[in-house]
This record gives sequence, structure tokens and C-alpha cells, in this order.
Amino acid sequence: MKIAVLSGKGGAGKTTVATNLALSLPGVQLFDADVEEPNAHLFINPHFGDRIESVRRNVPVIDPDQCDPCPTCVQFCQFNALAKFGKRIVVYAEACHSCGGCKQVCTSNAISEIEREVGVLRWDENISGIEFWQGELSVGEESSVPVIRALIQHVDDRKIAILDAPPGTACPAVEVASESDFCLLVAEPTPFGLHDLQMTVETIEPLQKPCGLVINRSQGDADRAIEAYARDRQIPVLFKLPFDRSIAELYARGIPLVERDPSWKPRFRELFDRIRSLR
Ligand code: SF4
Ligand code: SF4
Repeated sequence: MKIAVLSGKGGAGKTTVATNLALSLPGVQLFDADVEEPNAHLFINPHFGDRIESVRRNVPVIDPDQCDPCPTCVQFCQFNALAKFGKRIVVYAEACHSCGGCKQVCTSNAISEIEREVGVLRWDENISGIEFWQGELSVGEESSVPVIRALIQHVDDRKIAILDAPPGTACPAVEVASESDFCLLVAEPTPFGLHDLQMTVETIEPLQKPCGLVINRSQGDADRAIEAYARDRQIPVLFKLPFDRSIAELYARGIPLVERDPSWKPRFRELFDRIRSLR
């Protein structure tokens, strides 16, 4: 079972939920798919050692001796990864999405491809009972999707996999959501939190995945607006983390809540049971 933990913005509590849920369940895989800024390791403290896997993809190379330059490939590329300067075609490899289309449309055989490293994966097979994987996008790369795809390939279908998704509603978050069996949404009960939740729900709705809501920094009456929205969209509120200074302090010090106060573990296990019942 693959659970994507999603939020419309950073700082909503996604990593808190993902790491504490992982630490409360036996034999899970935890994937930090927030590859532009992975931070789950701060709470899990893995030992990666020399375990590193390069993530590569193909990008075009233009042979100036074969090139007209017509420039059919420039017109074809939807990602502005090719440009014509005078008689020269320039490749912006960071923007290339490796679709291979430019090579196909070039009738002069002027385009070949080379592999380019766009990121790496690191992992620890057993840290506090968790198999932990982390993706890291190389500095300057525009698209994190290839690194996320490489990361998700390591999901073991026999295990529970918790995927800490990138924040936001762009392609990287959708990639994680589309690969999951369940979308666990994390939001704060504020006007901004509600707005970000609405955007996330609208983004993942076409995927038709079962989903549930965790309210982070929950505060009694302040939850009403977000609860009303969830009710309206038939999204069950599965869990609440209270607005509590001591929880914020633990987060700031990189200490998982369930480690400092193990009484939270059964509550996170209940959260998992509710997820499983909704799947
Ligand atoms: S399509 Fe081929 S020949 Fe035309 S500009 Fe691109 S590389 Fe050059
Ligand atoms: S492979 Fe696709 S994305 Fe990359 S430069 Fe060619 S057309 Fe553009």
C-alpha cells in the first residue's frame, strides 16, 4: 500500500505526519520525495554510508556539421530547451524533459543523445525499523519528476510505503499522488491553509484516489471552516495534531513526536487503520 502525504504548501506538517506515521508502524518504507529540499532525514537520522544511485536521463546534442539549421527542433520543443542563435542551435539541458521528440523530427540526423545526471538516491535499509529512501535533485535542474520516478521504482509492493511528497500542486506532487493508493492531505486550519487545501483537492481530484485529511495545529473552533470544506467534499478528517508549543519545539529540534512521547504511536497506528479501511 502506497500512501502519499501531500500539502498545498511547505511547512504545513507533511513531514511531521509522514515521519511519525512511519515510526509508528512496523517494517515500512519511507520515501522522501521532496527531492528539491528533502528534510525527513533530519528526524530519521539515517546512515547512508556509500549507498548512492545516480539518476540519469537523455538530453540532445546537436552536431553543427549536420545541422541546417532549419529550425524544426526548436519549434517542436514545448519546454524551450532549444534555441537558435544565428546559425547555431543551443541546448538548455536543465530545461529538457527528455521526450526525445527533437531527435525524431530532425531530418538531417543532426541530433544524438547523451546521458546527464539529474540527481541521486540515497538509502538506509534499516533505521529504527524503517527502510528509508531519499531523492536529491541536482542543483540547477528544472524538473524533479525523473528523480521522483526513480525513487518510486524502489517501492516494495509487499510493504507499506509512505511517500512524503513535494509541497504544492505542480507536476512533482501530482507524480507522487498518481503513483499512490491513498492521498493523505495535511493542512492547517487557517484561511491560507484552507486555500492551499482547496488547490490540492482540485489538483488530485481527476486521479480519483481515496483521500483523507490531517489537520495540523488544530485549534478547536478554528478548525470549523476547514472541517466544513472537508465535509462538503466528502473528505474524512482522519487525525488532528494540536496547536501546541511543545510539538513545535520538538519539530525545530528534529525530534519525532512519537519518540519523545510514545503515547502518540497508537494514535498514528489508528490513523493508519482508518486509511486502510478507506482504501
Ligand atoms: S531539426 Fe536538425 S537540422 Fe533542423 S535545426 Fe534542429 S538539429 Fe538542426
Ligand atoms: S528531448 Fe524533448 S524536451 Fe528535450 S530538447 Fe528535445 S524536444 Fe525539447
